[in-house]
Amino acid sequence: MKLQRRFSLRFVFLIPLLVSVVLSSVVVKSHYDLVNRSISAEYDRLKESLWRSSKVISALDYSFTNYYRTGGNILVKHNTFLENDLCKIWPIDAVLRTESKSNGISAVDINYMLVGNEELCDPTSPIYKRASSQVALAPVLSFMHDLDNYLIGIHYSDKEGYIVSSPDTLAQNVTSEYLDTMKARPYWRATDQNRGEITVSGPVNSMVLGKEMMSLTVPVHSEESYEGLISLDIDLDTLLYSGDKLSSKIRIIDRARDSVPGSAFWVRELVFEGVVFNHTIFYDFDLEKEVKQFFSQEKYSLLIILLVYIFSVLVLFYVNTNAERSHFRDLAAKDPMTGLLNRRGFEAFLTQSTHEHTFAVAVFDIDNFKSINDTYGHDVGDDVICYIADQLEKNIRADDAVARFGGEEFVVYLKGYDEKQLIRSLERVRIAISEKSTEVIEQGFTVSGGAEIMGPTFDLDFVELFKLADEKLYQAKTSGKNKLIY
Ligand code: GH3
Ligand code: MG
Ligand code: MG
Repeated sequence: MKLQRRFSLRFVFLIPLLVSVVLSSVVVKSHYDLVNRSISAEYDRLKESLWRSSKVISALDYSFTNYYRTGGNILVKHNTFLENDLCKIWPIDAVLRTESKSNGISAVDINYMLVGNEELCDPTSPIYKRASSQVALAPVLSFMHDLDNYLIGIHYSDKEGYIVSSPDTLAQNVTSEYLDTMKARPYWRATDQNRGEITVSGPVNSMVLGKEMMSLTVPVHSEESYEGLISLDIDLDTLLYSGDKLSSKIRIIDRARDSVPGSAFWVRELVFEGVVFNHTIFYDFDLEKEVKQFFSQEKYSLLIILLVYIFSVLVLFYVNTNAERSHFRDLAAKDPMTGLLNRRGFEAFLTQSTHEHTFAVAVFDIDNFKSINDTYGHDVGDDVICYIADQLEKNIRADDAVARFGGEEFVVYLKGYDEKQLIRSLERVRIAISEKSTEVIEQGFTVSGGAEIMGPTFDLDFVELFKLADEKLYQAKTSGKNKLIY
């Protein structure tokens, strides 16, 4: 029997730690993949939104440009109001009625306002005439701006210095200074220059609306003359809001004005056919937020890993304690040199066994062992003892037992059918030991034995039995050795 080694303390703590580290890295990797997938999904949503906005503005551009070709009528009656030096015009009825006004389309809310300088309120002025004919398209602005929640508003800015705006928020907040300087602003010219394409301005912080926004603009032309522009304002906070999927924000910058910061991750340029983008989108990575998000999203996985760690340490401790216990049990029951049972172990074996068969208890003793020790030395003497232990173990079955009772004396318990068969087995073992003994020492050696055969019994007196077998061994020794007496 080999002595069981317990795990070292380092093993008990480090192996579960190693397993936990491996599991944690799997969690980190899957979280990283999830963040990547979320960013990718957000980019797709963002591009889809911008694509929708570009379609909206293209549709409006088509309506306005065609309108200049065909002319139009005022569809709804309007209020006019002069406030300071600004003229504001808005529909009296904020609901487009079905029958007469919108050709069978169900009633819808409309919200728009025209704003311009005083002259706009004068029914005889050319600007009034121009604006009142264009107002037919204002409800369309209103319908379109309701389409998506990130659309702040859509407006048409005319070269004559007035704005048709839906919703009316922008028009309510516009100043006459803004109207006067409108055509001097960079986007006005840029929009004209990108004829046939959509111009993107911003991001800027709109002073009028108090929001960070971006505008898509297209020019409206009438036979080569630049009549005005349609502008679609996007609320970037709403557009870039990713809910709680991502801990940091997705940002958009105009490369001409801003550079990509060092914290940028997943940097992509925005490219759309028909839109003049000079913009880059990126994920504004923030390690602290990311770590917080990781722990909050993966808390259950991490808790499980912690429990796995604690559980494995406890299991290893338990295995250790058990191994130690069985180690000490073995120490008490086994002979350390040969691994055979010692006297105490052998007695325990006999007590636990049910002796329902005929069995033999035999005592073997090496003949003239003293002289082997004297001739070859104590170490060779030990080899001889171990050799006999091996031979005996090889020749017994699993439910038999062999023990070393100290010195060079071995005791065997053998189950069998009858006395003859048992004696044959014991003799065979004894002879085999002698025959192969030259493998250990040149001149070889012999063993003597005394055996006591018993029928099935429930009441075994081991001490008595051993004494009888020992007496027979003595007889063998005194009658010439190298024999088995039974
Ligand atoms: P006999 O044939 O009558 O048995 O002669 P013997 O020399 O074997 O007689 P005895 O039993 O007196 O001698 C046993 C010797 O075995 C004495 C002791 O030095 C030696 N011995 C006992 N235990 C060990 C051991 O573990 N290793 C070795 N090498 N020798 C041992
Ligand atoms: Mg001896
Ligand atoms: Mg002896």
